[in-house]
Amino acid sequence: MNIIDFQPNIWSVLLKSVRLNKLSNAYLFYGTQGCAKEWAALEFARILNCFNKENTSCYSCESCIKFKSLQHPNLFMTFPLPASKKENKKKDSIGNLSQDNYEILLDSLNKKSENPFYKINIPGAQRILLSSIKDIKKNSFLKLEHAGKKVFIIFDAHLLCVGSGESANSLLKILEEPPENSLFILTTDFKNKLLPTILSRCQKYFFSDIDISSVQLYLEDQGIDKEKATEIASFSFGNIQFASSLINISNTSIFRKTQKFIEQIVVFKRDNWELFLKEFSMLAYRNPDEYYLNFQLAQAWFNHAMKIRSEYESHSLELKRIENKIREFNKNYPNADLVEINKLIEHTLSALKLNLDINLTLINFLMSMQTLLKGKKIKKVI
Ligand SMILES: [Zn+2]
Repeated sequence: MNIIDFQPNIWSVLLKSVRLNKLSNAYLFYGTQGCAKEWAALEFARILNCFNKENTSCYSCESCIKFKSLQHPNLFMTFPLPASKKENKKKDSIGNLSQDNYEILLDSLNKKSENPFYKINIPGAQRILLSSIKDIKKNSFLKLEHAGKKVFIIFDAHLLCVGSGESANSLLKILEEPPENSLFILTTDFKNKLLPTILSRCQKYFFSDIDISSVQLYLEDQGIDKEKATEIASFSFGNIQFASSLINISNTSIFRKTQKFIEQIVVFKRDNWELFLKEFSMLAYRNPDEYYLNFQLAQAWFNHAMKIRSEYESHSLELKRIENKIREFNKNYPNADLVEINKLIEHTLSALKLNLDINLTLINFLMSMQTLLKGKKIKKVI
């Protein structure tokens, strides 16, 4: 499957701009999580450097092969990184990473090259560092050594504007007068968190949500059997990033894991809570992907509970095997505020990125959950 199957309108416009050689210096791809923005950015960079100008789905020339492994010399990717306590100014932003984080980064890049929907999450990364923008500056002014165009992709671009916004302001200078043969693509789930000055310099493309049947086809295209693909696509509500993170886990394990997590956080038992706190505070540092996954599974589960609740008898849930449990939950917790529970999970997920005290965050999560399950308002979120 090709990006055009997911975002046909945007992709046609982008291809036309390449054909007519009417490229902008800077693009913003925005839309909710899992709508193929990052993949589109990588694909656009590939096409701009492909030797085979007539065929937009080449994938086989020397340049495209390098893109496949994300190792093309004209591809520069920037993502949020943890700030280094003792920054060595002689090293670049990657060179200042700790050995552990550097290994996580290499592993993440490897995963992303295999799966364009993989989300790179380095522990403690809260913002796009000023030193990363300095790297962009340095690289953008270097002479172009290879045919094509240098493409700078900034993932999670809203994190340019954290704190005093020094990274955003520094980038702004490059966007105002971009070096020749350089093109910038910013991607974000949160367009409104970007500075207006940045927004005004980008050509903006809104990526709409992907429909569930396209996600299902994508999964089948990856070799997933139809039954599994249907369940995952439906369970993830068409969030392709989330759906593709479930590819290598059997559906039985996915639903067992989800159910276990839901029981841990819904049923109030002291022993349960102690175990939960121990397990998840450790997971947050040792295996952040697994930590995120559990919360995302719970989020999807609660969203399905909301869907079933709102559709009464006539619903189209393909997930027969979790349906009974969800109905049971709806019966036991008829007043549960599912909208607020969704927000609470978002908040708990972002706490990890913001480096907040995880233990405190998790305690707050469990307590707030009890309040919301009863349909009461949370007084204060720590
Ligand atoms: Zn090619």
